[in-house]
Amino acid sequence: MSISGRTAAYDPPATGRQPNPRTHLLSRDNTDRYRRVVAEGLDRVRARIASTDRPLTGVTPAALAPRVAAVDLDRPLADPAAALDELEEVYLRDAVYFHHPRYLAHLNCPVVIPALLGEAVLSAVNSSLDTWDQSAGGTLIERRLVDWTAERIGFGPGADGVFTSGGTQSNLHALLLAREEACAASPLPRRELLPKLRVLASAAGHFSVQKAAVLLGLDADAVVTVDTDADRRMCPDALAAALARCARDGLTVMAVVATAGTTDFGSIDPLDAVADRCAAAGVRLHVDAAYGCGLLVSPTRRHLLAGIERADSVTVDYHKSFFQPVSCSALIVRDGEVLRHATYHADYLNPAPLAADERVPNQVDKSLQTTRRFDALKLWLTLRMMGPDAIGQLFDEVVETAGAAWRLLAGDPRFEVVTRSALSTVVFRYLPDGPDRALADEANRYARRALAASGEAVVAGTRVDGRQYLKFTLLNPETTLDDVAHVVDLLAGHAHRYVRERTAATCPVG
Ligand SMILES: *Cc1c(COP(=O)(O)O)cnc(C)c1O
Repeated sequence: MSISGRTAAYDPPATGRQPNPRTHLLSRDNTDRYRRVVAEGLDRVRARIASTDRPLTGVTPAALAPRVAAVDLDRPLADPAAALDELEEVYLRDAVYFHHPRYLAHLNCPVVIPALLGEAVLSAVNSSLDTWDQSAGGTLIERRLVDWTAERIGFGPGADGVFTSGGTQSNLHALLLAREEACAASPLPRRELLPKLRVLASAAGHFSVQKAAVLLGLDADAVVTVDTDADRRMCPDALAAALARCARDGLTVMAVVATAGTTDFGSIDPLDAVADRCAAAGVRLHVDAAYGCGLLVSPTRRHLLAGIERADSVTVDYHKSFFQPVSCSALIVRDGEVLRHATYHADYLNPAPLAADERVPNQVDKSLQTTRRFDALKLWLTLRMMGPDAIGQLFDEVVETAGAAWRLLAGDPRFEVVTRSALSTVVFRYLPDGPDRALADEANRYARRALAASGEAVVAGTRVDGRQYLKFTLLNPETTLDDVAHVVDLLAGHAHRYVRERTAATCPVG
């Protein structure tokens, strides 16, 4: 009997209370157990996915923390069923479910089943993509997918790249390469050049650019903000002016970061015009397509990325618009030679002479990571089982729904919308009438919180020009315009109630 009183269905202990620890190892003699245990977990998740009627329960950290704290990590449970029962309590019951059509908050996608198959395979085989001798075929599969993505971007045969943990790492990697290229090209010693290096990005760009600048030892003012137009796209003339100012001040622009799909507005910087300015100034162009990369496979909207082929490097997050589970991302570069800036050799792992003489394909020579997941396998199985058009169609569907949601909100007098997204976000806010307008910020904040607490839906919040807004990020093809309309009404109800209660409290009538 186990401590939960349940009869242990799995290899009861031969001696003592706990079974031989080796019964937990995936080994040649233990494959039945492997299948049973994983299948049991899979069944729990299946049941959850099938029965979730809300994207979240709205549980508070205060309510959940004691349950997690009460778990005695030094006292294992007797069987997988008990561990899974416990997991229901501390995680599965209150998790946020992205497959639910009323999850409308951040760039989290529902995942495609072929990718889940890939996830199951890659974690069991557990290849590590740093060296050929830890991955063999995995290395070749990753390389094919890098080449495939580079071709979709429109890069030539010299292109290369590597899978990463996410857009943040891809952007860091791109800017590391840019810094090293700038150092190599400059007559100044590195120490003198570093404080003079600048990165130009729009105000709507991602904060990982700032983080990367700090990690790369750049100056505190290294990231220069370029103005955007009314549609929140980088202004090419403002970019030209910023480039000229840097040149005048004796600063070296190591890269311009254009965003192909800003996180808030889904706006795509005018890539061709930006590439023109970069070419004229002889500056590297990095395109952060973490969000918009799904357009690479869109049957109808690929043209929105026109000009991306002129970039020196591109960030793609398959775990956003390719419907892949986290993590699955890549940095793709036009000229594979630049990847040498991340090449370091260790005698025990990838000795230098071996790499040169025997040409062993070691991906660690190109990566910021050493031990690294075979995330490429998820994308591989997705392409082999669905094909690229099917992924692009799914992304097209969410872009269409977002367009319809924008029109719905633009025509709703209770709300105000910001620019129409090229992708799948909608930024809007509830606008109370007349003198109550002063309560708009608080009303929108309240509406978002109240909605999440109800568990009915999740939306995001953001600030635009100093004011509080709400945001939908649509990445679920199952989300219908009816779902959106329902959530819009719920938000209006919460915001309206907030305004009514506030005005009743401060200026009682009658
Ligand atoms: C999400 C996002 C990132 C960061 O990617 P992670 O995968 O979350 O690290 C970078 N840039 C943009 C434009 C993004 O939307």
